[in-house]
Amino acid sequence: MTEPREITHWIGGKAVAGASGRYGEVYDPATGRVGATVGLASPDEVDQAVAAARAAFPAWRDASLTQRARVLFAFRELVAAHAGELARLISSEHGKVVSDAAGEVARGLEVVEFACGVPHLLKGGFSENVSSRVDAYSILQPLGVVAGITPFNFPAMVPMWMFPVAIACGNAFVLKPSEKDPSASLRLAELWAEAGLPDGVFNVLQGDRVAVDGLLNHPDVKAVSFVGSTPVARHIYETAARNGKRVQALGGAKNHMVVLPDADLDLAADAAVSAGFGSAGERCMAISVVVAVDPVGDDLLDRVRARVAELKVGPGDDPRAEMGPLVTREHRDKVVSYLDGGVAQGATLAVDGRETPVLGDPGEGFWLGPTVLDHVTPEMDAYRDEIFGPVLSVVRVASYEEALELISANPYGNGTAIFTNDGGAARRFQNEVEVGMVGINVPIPVPMAYYSFGGWKESLFGDSHAHGTEGVHFYTRTKAVTSRWLDPSHGGVNLGFPTNG
Ligand code: NAD
Repeated sequence: MTEPREITHWIGGKAVAGASGRYGEVYDPATGRVGATVGLASPDEVDQAVAAARAAFPAWRDASLTQRARVLFAFRELVAAHAGELARLISSEHGKVVSDAAGEVARGLEVVEFACGVPHLLKGGFSENVSSRVDAYSILQPLGVVAGITPFNFPAMVPMWMFPVAIACGNAFVLKPSEKDPSASLRLAELWAEAGLPDGVFNVLQGDRVAVDGLLNHPDVKAVSFVGSTPVARHIYETAARNGKRVQALGGAKNHMVVLPDADLDLAADAAVSAGFGSAGERCMAISVVVAVDPVGDDLLDRVRARVAELKVGPGDDPRAEMGPLVTREHRDKVVSYLDGGVAQGATLAVDGRETPVLGDPGEGFWLGPTVLDHVTPEMDAYRDEIFGPVLSVVRVASYEEALELISANPYGNGTAIFTNDGGAARRFQNEVEVGMVGINVPIPVPMAYYSFGGWKESLFGDSHAHGTEGVHFYTRTKAVTSRWLDPSHGGVNLGFPTNG
């Protein structure tokens, strides 16, 4: 048997083999077999990656905006040309179907395209004559070395929420991707190099908590962007802030989809099934709770069940498959525990994903088919926990007000959606709901790259959302300059307090 391939770091413009002696196993979730190993960084390797970024920063900061934009345009073309290859790589380690992985590459590319406009994005303000012959202006400058720590569920898109904007703004970047599916980051690093990005401006540090803590405590890391689960997001936010760093930490989610009695139930059922089971529910914007407002519950459930029965589950590279396996055995087992657990707490198992056939040979893959739990109530674990798998809960409520109260009481506030044909009800929901991203007859309202992505409450710790103008603000600091060029009429010495006459 051949040894599994080893996934390296990318430091200072080249692949660097892990030297810590610690390795993680990277699985093919469809077979359950180890496909590769990945070196888990030691504190020394954290220092090397940060030092490479720090060394590259001054020249990149001073590169002209046109030069930076040209590298971004070249990177954009290369990622687009290699999108299929990236999608297959993602699918082989994450498990999602290749078409879905291609979708994540496409959404990540939109942020690169946004960042190509960096000359426009970095314009400051200018006021002439704030005092006699005195001008004032603001300039946006990069921070230095910035770090990104990302989750397993979008191994290309989530890093691409961060680094195109950070790099366009003139920073040097250290990415710590998930150790569960680390290859996509490495491939993106190679494409950056091919695009002409100077060595050290983009680095990939593979690893686990040791690498993360190393970055959080490193004095040369000026800002940290994190996306992952809420407990880790809280830890990142608190530690980075204590160390004086700028930090944005996006956490977990429990996304509700409200279906009002006047909604088009076929549209709502299509949306619930697509947004509940796409990527096996391992999306931070997945719909995990359908809130059916009386009397739509039974009718909606019938339509959901009919659609779920048609779904094809299978390996990510099987073109017939619409849903793949879960990312690891442990995660699959945890998700499965909510099925019997939910029933024990009083829910009804309307569809049992353990019975779903798998296309081809299921082997030891981490399978669970689409599952629907009905009559879920807010006290149940299936409602309270972020399951992060293909389990759709249906909660039945008597009114719009009860639906809104349910969402307001939930600690998460990432995404939500309402399905209705009543514009007034939709507008009221958009105004009242305490959630960062809202869909109206749209189940996964992921903002475009030129808006910013982020939730409220325990779904985000920090002030800035990702990409869009908030991303540009996060990766720059503003300097306000007041300037006077002396001419013979400057007026001589004046000890009075400067006023604006
Ligand atoms: P995770 O929190 O386990 O891991 C995220 C990152 O943190 C990884 O790089 C991991 O190596 C690192 N990490 C894990 N435990 C750590 C610890 N104790 N100390 C320091 N670092 C640690 O998340 P995951 O399982 O990879 O991803 C799924 C989670 O991410 C879900 O909760 C999902 O909702 C969330 N997510 C949120 C968004 C969003 O935009 N809000 C987007 C995608 C995913």
